[in-house]
Amino acid sequence: MKVAINNLSVGLHDIDLGDFEAADIELKEPELYPNPIHVCVMIDKFDKAYRFKITVETDALFHCDRCLENYVYRFKETIEQLYEVGQGTIGIDEEVQVLAENEQEVDLNPQLQEAFLLHRPLKMLCREDCRGLCPRCGINLNTSRCDCLRHDIDPRLEKLKSLLN
Ligand SMILES: [Zn+2]
Ligand SMILES: [Zn+2]
Repeated sequence: MKVAINNLSVGLHDIDLGDFEAADIELKEPELYPNPIHVCVMIDKFDKAYRFKITVETDALFHCDRCLENYVYRFKETIEQLYEVGQGTIGIDEEVQVLAENEQEVDLNPQLQEAFLLHRPLKMLCREDCRGLCPRCGINLNTSRCDCLRHDIDPRLEKLKSLLN
């Protein structure tokens, strides 16, 4: 996905780029993002540099690591990226992408991919206290109950447990 920068004046520009699909951004796990991905960008243009604040927003479809059910996750993240025409005027403490002189547009895909990758939850949980599946019968313990664990106490394990306690 590209943003034209050739006609931007110095100063702030708030650009609503609209809705995109995971394929437009070439996301690694497109199945997690089946809904439109809204992208906005705030560009602060300086003489020879651009500061981009890129916001992505979508209803992701994650699946819970514990109960394996799908759930909708409101995904909204903002990342910043600096671009510089030529090289060498901005301090080295910031990560800067270099643009060629006369660059007409900026490809945002690498930044967008990073935003999705970095902010994807490490553990996907439909809710913080998800009870998961019964290890024995596989029933979803969020919505159903089973008697497996109550009847499943191995007398040998019980003995071990009392030794550990
Ligand atoms: Zn769950
Ligand atoms: Zn069970």
